[in-house]
Amino acid sequence: MRKIPVAVPLFRGNEKKYLNECIDTGWISSNGRFIVAFEEAFASFCGTKHALACSNGTVSLHLILKALGVGAGDEVIMPTLTYIATANATAYCGAKPVFVDSDEYTWNMNPTDLEDKITKNTKVIMPVHLYGLCANMDEILKIGKKHNITVVEDAAEAHGATWNEKKSGSLGDVGSFSFFGNKIITSGEGGMITTNNQDLYEKMKLLRSHAVDPSKKYWHSEVGYNYRMTNMQAAVGLAQLEEISWHLKERERVAHLYQKALAPYENLFTFQKIPAQAKHVYWMSSIVLKENVTLSRDILMAELDKYGIETRPLFYPVHTMPPYLEEKTSYPVAESLSKRGINLPSHALITEDDVRYIAEALIQSLEKGKKLC
Ligand SMILES: *Cc1c(COP(=O)(O)O)cnc(C)c1O
Repeated sequence: MRKIPVAVPLFRGNEKKYLNECIDTGWISSNGRFIVAFEEAFASFCGTKHALACSNGTVSLHLILKALGVGAGDEVIMPTLTYIATANATAYCGAKPVFVDSDEYTWNMNPTDLEDKITKNTKVIMPVHLYGLCANMDEILKIGKKHNITVVEDAAEAHGATWNEKKSGSLGDVGSFSFFGNKIITSGEGGMITTNNQDLYEKMKLLRSHAVDPSKKYWHSEVGYNYRMTNMQAAVGLAQLEEISWHLKERERVAHLYQKALAPYENLFTFQKIPAQAKHVYWMSSIVLKENVTLSRDILMAELDKYGIETRPLFYPVHTMPPYLEEKTSYPVAESLSKRGINLPSHALITEDDVRYIAEALIQSLEKGKKLC
């Protein structure tokens, strides 16, 4: 039987060569040529002045919020339909995550609901570019400007995604990326911050390495962190970035194969709808079951598993989980999408034949489900 995973890391460039260089030269920790090279290449890829490498894409968010002075009593607005890291980075600062419902069509943060959530305590608006599709940055930036609030992009899932031809990470005041093993490109664990703001960049750089005084070694002017990336991570990350056009092209190919294969079943599934301003980079190819489908999403996923097809549920809305539980407020669109949504196998090695197999398995499972109901 076939085994089709949701994600696999793919190494096709200089990963091994660069890693060997780290071992051969002894530069394995957080000094070495690959860190600066990776930062410079990533800034150039995003079209920002600066990029700052971090140990992962959660601490990169924490570092941004700390450098912006976010603390107790402050509020950070974010979609509830996101990975938990967006909220956790806020909680680490002692600040409060304030959740926003999703847009039914794009599954991203709904700008109207966002503006309703602004209070005098709002310090940051943090859109998430869900599964590789930019949130509505026209509206979000307009709202940020109107209320004079900083916009931080959580672009962990959206390397290379664009909005009005501009890359994610260069749209707001500052952006954050992840290079976890299942992301569009990986460094094992890793994160990157992008910005054009010189002062913010300097502040984040200082805090990344225990706030050591640049002119006086072992002198620390405030509480900082060790959020540095290693040269080994950067070696892999740089090699991956050199091949990012291939990674993006193949993911798009897979997404288009799904759209084609499932086009006859518009009555059963919907895809994330892509606004004219956006280019989706398909970290995940996902479907949402239409309301009229009676078979539950979880049973469907268990059926697909029998075919050797790994799938994942769409994120659980953050406000439904214990650390951030809100029993009184409801976010109906996010809750509904989350219940009906599935991430399909989305990596670059999926063939046309795999997609045909997955589409058939989906239809057969739903047919079988109908008989059960
Ligand atoms: C992956 C991810 C992160 C951070 O990931 P790390 O695993 O810490 O690198 C943050 N936000 C979102 C939306 C993510 O998907």
